[in-house]
Amino acid sequence: MAVCYKQDMAEIIDISVAVRPGMVIYPGDPTVSLERVVSIADGAVCNVSRLDFGVHSGTHVDAPVHFIEGAPAAESLPLDVLIGEARVLDLTAADRLDAAAFAGIELGERVLLKTRNSELWARDSFSEDHVALTEDGAKALVAGGVRLVGIDYLTIGDEEAHHVLLGAGVVAVESLDLRGVEPGTYELICAPLKLAGSDGAPARALLIRR
Ligand SMILES: [Zn+2]
Repeated sequence: MAVCYKQDMAEIIDISVAVRPGMVIYPGDPTVSLERVVSIADGAVCNVSRLDFGVHSGTHVDAPVHFIEGAPAAESLPLDVLIGEARVLDLTAADRLDAAAFAGIELGERVLLKTRNSELWARDSFSEDHVALTEDGAKALVAGGVRLVGIDYLTIGDEEAHHVLLGAGVVAVESLDLRGVEPGTYELICAPLKLAGSDGAPARALLIRR
């Protein structure tokens, strides 16, 4: 569940999924290992852990090179797109995120798609029956001027949808936890790790409402 903090007149809502061993990952991706390799309990002066996981684990951003050979990698994701006003769209009634699903919906530069997927985070294994963007749904977002799109499960869409988005330079944020987040306008802060040459980068994603 998205965790909310209050700070002066602002609410900070953490829409990131915790990274931990045993977490739900996309089928075929590397599993998550986080283990203590130096331990105070064993007489060391500090604790040090080793992390081994796929770069598309947990809340993360896809880089264009994920689907397009030779395209930009994670370290060149545009920070001006990753931070700024974002709209959480209520798509909880949609079974497909095709162009028709966005008809009549006001988009924006950054949109986060709240779907029935968010409830799938309560399960402990991958659910095939998630909602995702189709090719023409992705084209509708690009045509509407969207520069960043996020979704509340492990994949933004099918292969064609990825090609449309990443080919147009749209930033795709995957595995957001939008449970308990009301549709509306927020400030988004999404900070992916600066992983040189990587096709994806885990990110902390926060919504701020003033
Ligand atoms: Zn991904």
